[in-house]
Amino acid sequence: MASAVDTFVAGVIARNPAEKEFHQAVEEVVESLMPVLDKHPEYRRAKVLDRIVEPERVIMFRVPWVDDQGDVQVNRGMRVEFNSAIGPYKGGLRFHASVNLGIIKFLGFEQVFKNALTTLPMGGGKGGSDFDPKGKSDMEVMRFCQSFMSELFRHIGADTDVPAGDIGVGGREIGYLFGQYKKLTRKFEGVLTGKGLNWGGSLIRPEATGYGEVYFAEEMLKTRGESLKGKRVVISGSGNVAQYAAEKVIQLGGTVLTFSDSSGYIVDEEGIDSKKLAFVMDLKNNRRGRISEYQKKYPNANYQPTSAGAKSNLLWDVKCDVALPSATQNEINEIDAANLVKNGCACVAEGANMPSTPDAVSVFLESKILYGPGKAANAGGVAVSGLEMSQNSMRLAWSREEVDQKLHSIMKSIHKVCMETAEAYGTPGNYVNGANIAGFLKVADSMMAQGVV
Ligand code: NDP
Repeated sequence: MASAVDTFVAGVIARNPAEKEFHQAVEEVVESLMPVLDKHPEYRRAKVLDRIVEPERVIMFRVPWVDDQGDVQVNRGMRVEFNSAIGPYKGGLRFHASVNLGIIKFLGFEQVFKNALTTLPMGGGKGGSDFDPKGKSDMEVMRFCQSFMSELFRHIGADTDVPAGDIGVGGREIGYLFGQYKKLTRKFEGVLTGKGLNWGGSLIRPEATGYGEVYFAEEMLKTRGESLKGKRVVISGSGNVAQYAAEKVIQLGGTVLTFSDSSGYIVDEEGIDSKKLAFVMDLKNNRRGRISEYQKKYPNANYQPTSAGAKSNLLWDVKCDVALPSATQNEINEIDAANLVKNGCACVAEGANMPSTPDAVSVFLESKILYGPGKAANAGGVAVSGLEMSQNSMRLAWSREEVDQKLHSIMKSIHKVCMETAEAYGTPGNYVNGANIAGFLKVADSMMAQGVV
């Protein structure tokens, strides 16, 4: 007989065909929630689970723009306003060629639970476009952002929906989007986070996801009497999250060994120190080059191009104590997970959203290594976005130390609630259950209190 999880997930698949990442995200959460529903039949009666997997609103729109050759280009824009039970919709915008509705819905769904864990009043949403910023000029990116915002502006606002960055959307894109929003609405308000410091941004927002990921790893290691000091650390990606995760690992005395991008990865056995990290930051944030250039600058390092169709990603076969996946979804499969465990990796903290496939997650949980899922481990980014919203509302700016200290204490409290909830539901040490259940309870109780809406 089909289990309750299978039956529920089959219903979600039937209603949302061809959204495979969304199915994956729902299945993982629903598996964790069955013991909660058994204990609290009132959630079943109120169909909380059926309601929570249905976005409150999905907006899809045409984004036409003119490239540098004078040719018209057409992309698709979208915003999924998933759940506003505990606050205005909040979540990033992703610009990447692979973007489709299933990806944005998986990200928006995860965001609902993640935002609940941060202790701040933020609902969940996500958006983006299949626009690929790679190889585009600044002016092309600007024209695209202006066209994108020319539709999005009517759906968002400081008290309704507050987007931020994600893959392909950093400070440059947030600037162009904010400028167009302001022009169209004549409102200078906290409608986007990740803004520049001179115009309403918060200190530590660029650093927040990576720093938070490492704070979370440090909290997990502490439960086993360990710390990052002296540990070998493997990081994937070389964008915003990866860069600041590396910075914090270096500060805490760990050795960063790797970076990657969609073309390949580098391994530097001598360790990537602050000077080498500064090179990577300039390469990626200013010159917008490829990670292969690291090996040209530091010939002792090894570069391996990504091979299409490979069964595993050899980045995860580099011997390490701690792994910080910080690139994209499903970048660690079962073989990669087994390689990490075999080589002695004792702690995985996810900076990316859903970087591990379900089979990879099973390998981590069965081997009892410390495994912090993205919902919990990468919540630092949205947490500081929440702090940026508070500062905008108060028309005040907090110091670097103040924001970092708040971020640190939020990550500690997320770690604590995940640990305690996992234990309360009979699965001590299982941060997946802890994060899913703790996030769900806050949102579900708020939905119950607000009636059938
Ligand atoms: P960036 O665009 O700054 O960097 C993304 C990095 O991942 C780049 O190195 C990119 O390489 C690589 N990458 C992207 N897609 C792929 C792919 N399909 N295969 C291999 N590598 C890929 O994004 P962020 O650092 O902001 O985001 C990284 C992850 O962290 C994402 O999963 C995001 O959802 C998550 N996250 C981000 C937050 C934030 O505050 N920014 C908050 C919470 C989670 P290339 O340049 O070649 O594409």
